[in-house]
Amino acid sequence: MEAFYFSPMLVGVNLIFALAIAATALWRMSRPMPAPVFWMVGAWSLALGVVLFGVFVVTRNPVINVLGNMLQLCGEAILVLGVFRFIGRPVPYWILPVSVAIVGSVNVHYWMTSANSDFLMTVYSIVAGLLPVQAVVLLLRLRDDPSTRPARILVGVCLGLYSVVTFVRAWFAWDAFASGQAYTQPYESFSYLLPYNFGIPALVMGFIGMTLMTMQRILAGSRANAERAKENTLRFERLLNVSSAGVAVLRDGRICDANRQLESLLGQSREQLLDSEFALHFKKRERELLAKSMGAADGTLVDIDVRRGDGGILNTELRILPLLGESGDYVAEIRDVSHRRTLEDELKRLATTDPLTGVLNRRSFNGLYSRALQRSIRHKVPMCLAMLDLDHFKSVNDLHGHKAGDEALRLFSHYCEREARGTDVFARIGGEEFVLLLADTTMDDACKILERMFRGVASLRLEGSKGYFSIELSAGLAEFVEGDTMESLMERADRALYNAKAQGRNRISTDD
Ligand code: GH3
Ligand code: MG
Ligand code: MG
Repeated sequence: MEAFYFSPMLVGVNLIFALAIAATALWRMSRPMPAPVFWMVGAWSLALGVVLFGVFVVTRNPVINVLGNMLQLCGEAILVLGVFRFIGRPVPYWILPVSVAIVGSVNVHYWMTSANSDFLMTVYSIVAGLLPVQAVVLLLRLRDDPSTRPARILVGVCLGLYSVVTFVRAWFAWDAFASGQAYTQPYESFSYLLPYNFGIPALVMGFIGMTLMTMQRILAGSRANAERAKENTLRFERLLNVSSAGVAVLRDGRICDANRQLESLLGQSREQLLDSEFALHFKKRERELLAKSMGAADGTLVDIDVRRGDGGILNTELRILPLLGESGDYVAEIRDVSHRRTLEDELKRLATTDPLTGVLNRRSFNGLYSRALQRSIRHKVPMCLAMLDLDHFKSVNDLHGHKAGDEALRLFSHYCEREARGTDVFARIGGEEFVLLLADTTMDDACKILERMFRGVASLRLEGSKGYFSIELSAGLAEFVEGDTMESLMERADRALYNAKAQGRNRISTDD
């Protein structure tokens, strides 16, 4: 035991354990890189093998001897396989069973036949020395992956040194076997101590190289990641600015990024927009709609008005989507749709009004008439309907020209529209036929209103090809009574109009 304490074997064993612990730390730090797992498993197998060999020296148990040798060689082979894994070459797994089988069978043979221990050591050393050769060549010659090159050369040189030491040991062992030298204790044998003095330090240096290689690769990886992140940021920024829409990135309801289009859309600088509350860029009554859209964040388009920096209002279309899964960031896209909104308004106007006079047409009158009637039925409020028809309008056209007739229709319409109260509905329902719905109005009041209107129309001065002229009209008035429908009330007003015409025109006739 004292001899073991004073021999370099103890230092060697301790070094191998230090190596196994360091390899475990390296594996833990570099996960999920695949190679360090090999180095960790290999180092522990080597350490265990060395311990078993120590136990054998004390116990002389042949099974422990075979197991110890096989585990040591197994460890060396796995360390080498890790190098292949690191440099991305196909891993020659076959070297593991082949080398272990050779040494194992020679070792078993040694015990069964009491053969020479120097011969066993020769075979072991040749196999162990051969293991790293291909890896060494690869490490020294590989051109790609320049970031790990210096450390790779260090590993190559150290493993090469280890091979050389192991081959020298094979030579000494062979020499002892050939010259029939007597058996010496391992801790006194020159060939046994050779790997402890030179092989294991080379292996430790090699492992330092492996650690450096791994670190350099991790460093290169994070450098590449940083580069990619920078590129992605640039790409994101460019993408934001390529969009024709205003784009805002939202965090906790505040703008944390905005593109140039948003600046011009909202008429505010980037500095003013950043960190501002998103909702404040919308009109107060639109905020409920905005909150709904943000809550859903499903990309649905919402028509919403934004408030510009100068106080102006802009018609926009907004859609909100989550930016990155559950990050809590949202991206809001805002598009100026004032042009579309103007077109829509124009279309609506065209659909609801009469093109010549600009007053409501028959279709929109029907809608309003139906609603007013429902209201009268429900709340039992009076309501009157007047059918108006210009008198002898054909003659007006014939005498003053169609253009003057058109102008007369326009003037008449504008006058009546102006005279009508806010609750009344005035509409053109035919060529020179109009209708006036008088809500909340009794027959008496309706008559008064119409009489005033008649006087006003008579005073309109119109210019035709034959000089100035004026127009007259007849009106048929009917009051809503219980049980009336839209049609029945209209029919009665129509009948009254017919009577007014029959009674000589330019008058108001009621249906009673
Ligand atoms: P009455 O007193 O019986 O209502 O006689 P009237 O000539 O007004 O009646 P009639 O229904 O016979 O003729 C209506 C005329 O209104 C015929 C048409 O020339 C004219 N008219 C209808 N629409 C327009 C229009 O858009 N522009 C012009 N200039 N004239 C129109
Ligand atoms: Mg007519
Ligand atoms: Mg007429």
